[in-house]
Amino acid sequence: MSILKIDNVHLDLDEKPILKGVSLTVNKGEVHAIMGPNGSGKSTLSYMLAGKEGYDSNEGKILFDEKDISSLSADERANAGLFLAFQYPVELPGVSSMSFLREAVNSRRKYLKKDEFSHLDFVKEARKIANEIKIKEEMLKRSVNVGFSGGEKKRFEIFQMCMLDPKLAVLDETDSGLDVDALKVVSEGVNKFKTKNNAVVIITHYQRILDYIVPDKVHILADGKIKKSGGPDLALYVEKNGYAGIVDAA
Ligand code: ADP
Ligand code: MG
Repeated sequence: MSILKIDNVHLDLDEKPILKGVSLTVNKGEVHAIMGPNGSGKSTLSYMLAGKEGYDSNEGKILFDEKDISSLSADERANAGLFLAFQYPVELPGVSSMSFLREAVNSRRKYLKKDEFSHLDFVKEARKIANEIKIKEEMLKRSVNVGFSGGEKKRFEIFQMCMLDPKLAVLDETDSGLDVDALKVVSEGVNKFKTKNNAVVIITHYQRILDYIVPDKVHILADGKIKKSGGPDLALYVEKNGYAGIVDAA
């Protein structure tokens, strides 16, 4: 069963075509990696999926959990179980990480017709998961992303993902700027999160993270189109030879 089906999607920004017919199907239980040169449209694709304002497709279809989500707001998509970790996480001064997350988690639980977490239950759950993915509790007392290092911001994204328990997580360059230890922590978090009922799409520049999170499929996005798809060996090929051969040949 497919969790995400993107069919021939086109998207313009400022009247400039950025996505030029992207098709991609991600099934339950799968991990996909999307690689590609700078400016190929990877982040645009993730913004479009998230439902960010100004990122509506002008052609094609996006099915999430076999339903068309084009008319859903960003919040509705999140409640339905779509999670996006952005390349540049935003800082929210004055908004405590715990209240921010509790609101998001309870909103999703309400949507799922589950009881909302009480303050105490939420704190317990947050502690448990923070421990599992080696997040310092002290970090959760701060405002969202404010003063977090690059690595801490990425770890906080993974923490949010685990707390929200989405059906599909799209991670946009979550590995960028991480040292080896942080990369391992982030990867372990993703691997813990992953079950046969959810799916993960990793957008990355480097093959390195794919040593820890083994993808079922790898796609190369260039100039707004998927030029080539393959298995993990495609990522190794790119690491060694760059994109030139693939992009030119396509
Ligand atoms: P990637 O994440 O693959 O590096 P992006 O999706 O960020 O690529 O960008 C794809 C292309 O879209 C780039 O050429 C970028 O300059 C362009 N782009 C991004 N935002 C806008 C915008 N608001 N208006 C016009 N072009 C944009
Ligand atoms: Mg990007």
